[in-house]
Amino acid sequence: MNHSISKIPEPINEPIKSYKPNSEEVKEVFEAYDRLNEKIVNIPIRINEKQIYTEQTKTISPPHDHQHIIGKYAIASSEIVQKAIEGCLEAKEQWSVLPWEHRAAVFMKAATLISGPYRAKINAATMLGQSKNLFQAEIDSACELIDFFNFNAYFLEQIYKNQPKSSSGVWNTLEYRPLEGFVYAITPFNFTAIAGNLPAAAVLMGNVCVWKPSDSQVYSANVIMEILEEAGLPKGVINMVTGDAELITNQILSHPEFSGLHFTGSTHVFKNLWAKIGERIFQYKSYPRIVGETGGKDYVWVHNSASVDEVVAALIRGAFEYQGQKCSAASRAYLPKSQWEGIKKQLEIEIATIRIGSPRDQSNFMNAVIHQKAFNKLKDTIERVKESDDATILIGGTYDDTTGYFISPTVILAKSPDFITMREELFGPVLTIYIYDDSQWRESLEWVKSASEYALTGAIFAKDRVLINEISAILSDSAGNFYINDKPTGAVVGQQPFGGGRASGTNDKAGSMYNLLRWVSPRTVKENFNPPSDYRYPFLG
Ligand code: NAD
Repeated sequence: MNHSISKIPEPINEPIKSYKPNSEEVKEVFEAYDRLNEKIVNIPIRINEKQIYTEQTKTISPPHDHQHIIGKYAIASSEIVQKAIEGCLEAKEQWSVLPWEHRAAVFMKAATLISGPYRAKINAATMLGQSKNLFQAEIDSACELIDFFNFNAYFLEQIYKNQPKSSSGVWNTLEYRPLEGFVYAITPFNFTAIAGNLPAAAVLMGNVCVWKPSDSQVYSANVIMEILEEAGLPKGVINMVTGDAELITNQILSHPEFSGLHFTGSTHVFKNLWAKIGERIFQYKSYPRIVGETGGKDYVWVHNSASVDEVVAALIRGAFEYQGQKCSAASRAYLPKSQWEGIKKQLEIEIATIRIGSPRDQSNFMNAVIHQKAFNKLKDTIERVKESDDATILIGGTYDDTTGYFISPTVILAKSPDFITMREELFGPVLTIYIYDDSQWRESLEWVKSASEYALTGAIFAKDRVLINEISAILSDSAGNFYINDKPTGAVVGQQPFGGGRASGTNDKAGSMYNLLRWVSPRTVKENFNPPSDYRYPFLG
């Protein structure tokens, strides 16, 4: 029996590898990429001890090479979903009583595996399955996932350490119990790290979880499961189920032991899930926790005191990295008239240098958008803008889906601040700019605040501190992650806890202890060392 009081090592963020062309580290990832690219992986549903391969499957192709098949994955039936729920409830009996150090150790070991022997594989899987270039894969599937696992283990200890005061003769304790029942994690396509973190955060706190990854991320999700098993996660603690999202979800949300939803994805899907949970509220044993991080229409607002070079770099990285498919991607910008000519010239010069294509070619800054549906939506929007009198396409506006779903980096100039692409999330490499008269800077902030239903990320560029303070206050509710003189993307675990308000989510801040607190239901225990033996109080005389 171990009676020591364990201490989780204070985590440091995983250093990002530089991947200089022709280096050993590049060779290692491309070798893994080529190996995976030559095979067809058969991805099972994982329920406790069993790997289930179904007759019905769906194929997986790289978005940048959509005729080439690299995998297929199983499609769950209702019976399989039922087994996934029952299986994780069975696994809970042992997992929820396991000393917390052992739970933390699973994820710290998983982080070590990703940092070392699995780094090339998980990066290569993300490059292939989600069309991310080497650098984008590295900051997501390697560094961010490692950080989620290490920092969450550290936050777990901080939470457990947080105990109430006790008066003389009394001992008060908070027991951080997991939720009763099971948690359901639904994850998006765009970040391997988010996909891994959503089930893991709940499970780390002693819960069990059914996990439904996105159809467009199953390929790297399978690698996450492989790593967690290798790290010693007992079978059944996370059951990964793939297939029809509605079928799986309707069944899970109808189970009386459903106790929490950990969701990241689009606003529309999340609102529907919330409504379904509401409809079933009388069926559940407890009130389910609902945590959802959703869409964004993220802004860059520029004052005329800002540096043109800094603004242009932020706009290009913010809007076009990972093809604008980050929830935090800059997709609307408000620029002062006096700086416009300088910014425009610079944008045209810089964007002309951007190469687009397969992530296998290291010189490509951009790759393909995720699937045909996304490609079609972006293509249709571009075509509508071309026909509109209210906006013009300044840069890009071309597309080609012959081999992969490629959309060129596109800059739209809107004539009014409420043009449709200034308001609605597109989730692609499309940036819309509105030029405001310098004297209207205060008014332009009102447009920033009210143009969209979202409040995820936003960035301002300005020099004067009094001005920065004033603008920050005006824009207080317009973003959950607010950047001063920086691009609105690239939040780092442990440094910028992530999440937004309004239609962007419940703002439970992934990568922080606030998120982990949603997955516990504390029990307060008061022990009295000197219980009264007479009911009368002294005041009675
Ligand atoms: P999506 O909403 O299409 O899918 C997300 C998940 O929901 C997937 O697993 C999908 O299969 C599932 N889903 C879809 N329809 C469903 C239904 N009817 N019932 C149950 N589940 C269903 O989103 P996506 O395309 O994967 O990701 C992009 C979206 O996610 C964007 O809106 C983006 O802004 C958002 N996002 C937000 C954050 C954040 O932290 N705020 C992070 C990443 C992505």
